[in-house]
Amino acid sequence: MEQIHETKHAQLRALPSVEKLLSTPTVGHLLQRYNRSYITDKVRETLMAIRQEIRANATPVTLSESEIAGHVASAVAQEDRSPLQSVINATGTVLHTNLGRALLAKAALDEIVRVGGSPVTLEYDLSEAGRGDRDDVVADDLLALTGAEAVTVVNNNAAAVLLALNSLAEGKEGIVSRGELIEIGGSFRIPDVMRKSGVTLHEVGTTNRTRISDYADAITPQTGVLLKVHPSNYRIIGFSSAVDLNELVGLGRERQIPVMEDLGAGALIDLSAFGLPKEPVVAERIATGADVVTFSGDKLLGGPQAGIIVGRKEYITRIKKNPLKRALRVGKLTLAALSATLRLYRRDPDLVAALPTLRWLTRSRAEMDTIAAQVVPLLQQQLGDGFTITVEDTKAQIGSGTLPEEEISSRAIAIRHTKLSPEKVAVRFRASDSPILGRIHDGTFFLDLRGIFAAEELLLQP
Ligand SMILES: *Cc1c(COP(=O)(O)O)cnc(C)c1O
Repeated sequence: MEQIHETKHAQLRALPSVEKLLSTPTVGHLLQRYNRSYITDKVRETLMAIRQEIRANATPVTLSESEIAGHVASAVAQEDRSPLQSVINATGTVLHTNLGRALLAKAALDEIVRVGGSPVTLEYDLSEAGRGDRDDVVADDLLALTGAEAVTVVNNNAAAVLLALNSLAEGKEGIVSRGELIEIGGSFRIPDVMRKSGVTLHEVGTTNRTRISDYADAITPQTGVLLKVHPSNYRIIGFSSAVDLNELVGLGRERQIPVMEDLGAGALIDLSAFGLPKEPVVAERIATGADVVTFSGDKLLGGPQAGIIVGRKEYITRIKKNPLKRALRVGKLTLAALSATLRLYRRDPDLVAALPTLRWLTRSRAEMDTIAAQVVPLLQQQLGDGFTITVEDTKAQIGSGTLPEEEISSRAIAIRHTKLSPEKVAVRFRASDSPILGRIHDGTFFLDLRGIFAAEELLLQP
């Protein structure tokens, strides 16, 4: 015992100093690529780990100076990877919030690079050599695409709802149907957002049925807004009825109360033209008479994260003057990407080809099967014995709070093993150098092909 103790002390004493390690050739190379304080930290951490190992271990730990320097180099190499790792989305959820939702069009990516690296006319009017308004960057296109009178853009749709409610009805009441008091993705609940916006929630109707007379009876001089919410991620079926927007608009006009609608996904074009489930189209809601409509930039629109508020000029002006707008506004990179995306909607001859979101959503079964036919034999070879790989029909989801039961049919590679659980199979794919994320359904691991455009994407990289 005493002997081991002695040995440990000797080992600890024998470790090189931080300075000594910094002057080794290996660490010297690192110092050409990384700053000194970062590398010094890594040297300290490596030494600390070795000391702990010496103290904990009964067997002697002997490492040469150059071996320790090698440990430092591999610790640095491990951290070289961006914390935002690229992954392969074979989950079958197209707009996956945890994976960053919409993929941007090439035109939008190019704009981000250009605008990020150059002074631009973000709030600068060249004709007057004076101050402009950053919302003007996207105003013309959004007005043309939605038919609204005015527009403003904020950080995300949650911010859009908060800002619009606060601007229209702070200190007053907002009337909402009980069937529309929804929660989206855990942290966005209509009653909570209303409270934070300073608007008192006045619920009307019941969970499954609300009539226009419920709204009418609830109106008092305290009413500041009639709010309609698209129940994006669920639907009440059976004995149910909700009030149509046009009825609510009629009531709002009559009583001179603004009608606001939170659309969530909010499509700019009618997706049913592509054989997809019909999601509310912003222009149709504006045409029906909604005074203010809010929707996301990175859901069905296929652009960057943003919250878009369109509507009547008088209300949008009020929203833009709200000091909260300054706190919630977007930066130039967002506007660059949004503007480029909107220009595609207005001008591109082949929107499906140009916009990744639409491309994913509208892919043909034949295209997915072609890729599957290439992947299956290669994967079979990679995975080896015990695995059964088949191509099956599945249901993909649009995601991000579009109606979950409105699934789109898809094709997937099903991977089964005689002994391994589907969770274990999933781990193996996640551990690939470009992590591959699939989905487990009914005890089987699936790789959905909707978002896969080349066979190599689904092959395991060591
Ligand atoms: C998604 C969604 C939101 C939140 O939008 P974010 O862009 O995620 O902030 C709010 N309301 C509805 C109805 C939604 O579907």
